[in-house]
Amino acid sequence: MLILDGIGDRPVKEIGNRTPLEAAHTPNLDRFATNGVNGIMDTIAPGIIPGSDTGHLALLGYDPYQVYSGRGPFEASGLDMNLHRGEVVFRCNFGTLEEGIVTDRRAGRIKDGTDLLAKAINQMKFDIDFVFKESVEHRAVLVFKDPNLGPLVSDTDPHLEDRPLLVSRADDNNLPNLRTAGLINKFTEMTTAILSEHPVNLERVERGEPPANVILSRGAGSVPDMSSLESLKGIRSAVIAGIPLVRGVCGLAGMDILSAPGATGGLDTDLESIFKTIVGNIDDYDFILVNIKGPDIPGHDGDHSCKIEFIEKIDAALPLLESMEDTYIAITGDHSTPVMVKNHSGDPLPLTIIGKEVRVDDVASFGERSCAKGGLGRIRGMDLLNILLDLAKRAEKFGA
Ligand code: ZN
Ligand code: ZN
Repeated sequence: MLILDGIGDRPVKEIGNRTPLEAAHTPNLDRFATNGVNGIMDTIAPGIIPGSDTGHLALLGYDPYQVYSGRGPFEASGLDMNLHRGEVVFRCNFGTLEEGIVTDRRAGRIKDGTDLLAKAINQMKFDIDFVFKESVEHRAVLVFKDPNLGPLVSDTDPHLEDRPLLVSRADDNNLPNLRTAGLINKFTEMTTAILSEHPVNLERVERGEPPANVILSRGAGSVPDMSSLESLKGIRSAVIAGIPLVRGVCGLAGMDILSAPGATGGLDTDLESIFKTIVGNIDDYDFILVNIKGPDIPGHDGDHSCKIEFIEKIDAALPLLESMEDTYIAITGDHSTPVMVKNHSGDPLPLTIIGKEVRVDDVASFGERSCAKGGLGRIRGMDLLNILLDLAKRAEKFGA
């Protein structure tokens, strides 16, 4: 399953009312469509706007409405943290607080010393067990390891600079959520006191750099009870993805994480390395999901030329996949990121599946409108893995 992140788009006037995918020169994608069965896909449901996390959950066959309460646990899983069902996980930033006002949400994009700050936080005596882990630059993750907490609380992160630090509130009057809100507010207060006195920050202030003296939290979610793909579908599976969030979703589904040298979540990613890693590992797995983040980035930036250019790069590397025999390949996205919207949208995605026994249709190009005329019609993301397993004769009969 090759997921081109944010590939779907809407017609853009400047390129003749075509979408970036339609306007791009993609002889290889078009050949896949010509030899495949095509359709369009609502990752979650028509008109529902997926995140990359909920989108990938659906693509793996999970119902995001059942397993998703917030981004935190998926982000933490992508950082290889040991998580347990029911724990509440927050995404965090080291920020700068001056007299109650968040003056820098990233503490000057702090690079060094966050490990020491995290160590000091983890030594703090607190009401419940917790783990705080620093990540890249100003990013971090916080896990509340207590079974009696709920995930439905608001962020302390004001999301904008020069705004007051927010007080977290429970979304409802359920005790577990109220407890979490009380604890995260207390945690914020106590860590601010510790961080403000920490040598790392005293040195930063001396150098004229913003101190990392507050932990801003957001995206609370509880670790879902997700059965692995192996137990649900009887398949051994792996993921290649440049962004931790997608690796995290797949990690919680029990998938192996493969790394491709030079693969990143950016436009500089090494596509050939990614495709070679697929080919090199396909014999060890029944199913590999690959996320290529690139197309989503110019979508958010509203840059159709850049999106076209990156799609053409993917297309140029695609022939590397053709050496795989006895493999069904689905090419689609996790959501649309139209350049006119500069964000995700609920527009359905083009989908092509190639492999030995697909019912090849009359579609001859890989695009949003061309694929809509294909033999798969319009499907849901949650059905895609089942369709692939059925094609590959790996599905089980329902009934006698
Ligand atoms: Zn995405
Ligand atoms: Zn995006």
